[in-house]
Amino acid sequence: MKIAIAGAGALGSRFGYMLHQAGNEVILIDNWVDHIQAIREHGLKMTIDAETFTAEIPIITPQEITSDQTVDLVIVFTKAMQLDQMIQDIKPIMNDDTDILCLLNGIGHEDIIAKYIDAKNIFIGNTMWTASLVGPGHSKSFGSGSINLQNLGEGQEIEAKKIAACLSEAGLNARFTDNVHATIYLKACVNGTMNGLCTILDVDMATFGETNQAHEIVTTIVKEFAAVAAHENIELNVDDAVAFIEKCYDRQTIGDHYPSMHQDLIRNHRMTEIDYINGAISRKGQKYGVATPYCDFLTQLIHVKENIVLK
Ligand code: NAD
Repeated sequence: MKIAIAGAGALGSRFGYMLHQAGNEVILIDNWVDHIQAIREHGLKMTIDAETFTAEIPIITPQEITSDQTVDLVIVFTKAMQLDQMIQDIKPIMNDDTDILCLLNGIGHEDIIAKYIDAKNIFIGNTMWTASLVGPGHSKSFGSGSINLQNLGEGQEIEAKKIAACLSEAGLNARFTDNVHATIYLKACVNGTMNGLCTILDVDMATFGETNQAHEIVTTIVKEFAAVAAHENIELNVDDAVAFIEKCYDRQTIGDHYPSMHQDLIRNHRMTEIDYINGAISRKGQKYGVATPYCDFLTQLIHVKENIVLK
């Protein structure tokens, strides 16, 4: 398959590398100058667990796309607040048959994509794969992951299964689901608790989980997500979601880790995706008449922290 990775940062590099190794014709699209230069000069470096591999994969900026470069599939991997611009910038690489797959963290990305792309070509989902950037041209990741995805447009189940099969052939462990919004909300609950709370408190997930207040705070936030989801006919079981989140506290697995929002804001001084996680729940809560005080407050607190850290 001809595949473009639109946003070849931490996770886009990992996906691009694995799809390339599986024999797909991959092109990376990014606008980070040092990253592009490093990949053009030395190839894409990918550290997986303890081993580092190099792959020669073409990388271009959106402005360098030419009309003969259209692809079968675009996988977007920008940060949520960069998605709208990226979709506009990469239009030339898409024709009427090009599919677009969005696995970004957060809620409501399909509304942004649908402003520019026909619903029949839009596929959404989420992923448990992780990665982080070592520096320009070099991404690293450990452990395994999975992908859930579904078609947005009616009658596109076969196409969605074809995309899932292509990803799985590359070892990315993808599966078609007929209930993708429930899995997106579940993942958003993890991000909507661990990300903001560990960032504000400046702790790893296990340290937060060991506090007396953790269970009640997490449960209250998940209830807000569930109340909003119910207005979209999405069933989110609060007890199951809380139990799922509380697995993050295990120091034998991922408990010692700081969530990605902490890495973005505290370590790398970058804007966060809070407006697309807790902020999305606040906006939807207002629309549906559902009170979401914890999500509202956490969103505000993260914005305050952004103002302090990024000034
Ligand atoms: P990242 O910041 O490392 O990568 C984003 C890349 O997109 C950057 O290299 C940036 O230069 C590029 N970009 C953004 N806008 C662009 C534009 N208009 N034109 C060209 N290039 C552009 O981010 P990431 O950590 O890979 O995360 C991507 C998404 O995946 C986020 O929504 C994140 O929440 C989600 N996610 C990440 C992980 C992880 O472990 N990194 C895990 C699960 C989900």
